[in-house]
Amino acid sequence: MTAADKAAAIAFLDLHRVNEPHLERIHRAVGRVVQSGWYILGKELRSFEERFAAYCGTRHCLGVANGLDALTLILRAWEFPAGSEIIVPANTYIASILAISNAGLKPVLVEPDLRTYLIDPARIRTAVTDRTRAILCVHLYGKCCDAEAIGAVAAECGLKVIEDAAQAHGASFKGRRAGNLGDAAGFSFYPSKNLGALGDGGAVTTSDPELARRIEYLRNYGSGRKYVNDYIGVNSRLDEMQAAILAEKLPFVDAENDRRRQLARRYLNEITHPDLSLPPADTLESDAWHLFVVRHADRERLMDYLSEKGIQTAVHYPVPAHHQKAYADWRDLSLPVTERIHREVFSLPLNTALRDGEVDRIIDALNAFPTT
Ligand SMILES: *Cc1c(COP(=O)(O)O)cnc(C)c1O
Repeated sequence: MTAADKAAAIAFLDLHRVNEPHLERIHRAVGRVVQSGWYILGKELRSFEERFAAYCGTRHCLGVANGLDALTLILRAWEFPAGSEIIVPANTYIASILAISNAGLKPVLVEPDLRTYLIDPARIRTAVTDRTRAILCVHLYGKCCDAEAIGAVAAECGLKVIEDAAQAHGASFKGRRAGNLGDAAGFSFYPSKNLGALGDGGAVTTSDPELARRIEYLRNYGSGRKYVNDYIGVNSRLDEMQAAILAEKLPFVDAENDRRRQLARRYLNEITHPDLSLPPADTLESDAWHLFVVRHADRERLMDYLSEKGIQTAVHYPVPAHHQKAYADWRDLSLPVTERIHREVFSLPLNTALRDGEVDRIIDALNAFPTT
């Protein structure tokens, strides 16, 4: 390593570097769409939808404008009675919870497991009431929820299972891919996700033909045929440009996830600091490793220390939903596992642009941090 390399700061995520290997393909896709003269709901979208459904193992995929809309439209499509309860992990990105509220339904927060950070299946059953209609499970940080345990509660109580797969493109549970582990799934193609567009994008995957049809209508003003409106729909479409770019990038997701896994393996094997809690290694091979999240009792001090060494880290996420002003009604809720996670977690750089020498520096810096 040269002195210049040594001094260079390590960004948490450099999206230009992430997209650099795809630049030619991206230009090809953009050129194709510009030339076609057709920019919304065309053959690029249909082609991507077919490929992404095949990738996930579902019968249908519908492109929508973003991940939040994907989840919201699934919840709207089932037409649950207003105020129906949807079970969701308290530890998630806010969009999982906003989707429920935006669909006119009531989020019921369930504590996660401190080890996996995922919704604790053992706590779901006690949250079910006669108003519960669905479980929205989140494959947070790229790790799939226990689809068997969740499916068993859903079957027992007659609930739908929705996956928030926004962080889990290519992750799997017992050989089945995220997106094909419940009744329907919402994906995001926000630029930083494992499969990222160059703008906003999202998709619903499902093998239920009636649900697929409803989403197809809902995303396009509730219309299946021009000027005929069967539902009070929205405008939420994945445009041809983003669909074409995603179709070019999709064949590389597995190899890119392998690279993420390689980096995660190094972190798991080589970070030896006794005060740091690392993510569980038992699902190393099946996780999509969207984020590598560690826990430390004095997170701020450790993040500052890394920052001084030129290593940028990030927190996913600093404030839980029940402490947000938007959900002031939940102010008095006590969710100690969730609160502890939000207080102690931070994420190390882990992306396809990260170089081996940079990983060496991150690991060395962490292991040299003074113990408490
Ligand atoms: C990114 C993300 C979303 C929302 O996706 P957008 O495309 O940004 O709307 C939802 N849930 C989770 C877990 C996410 O990480």
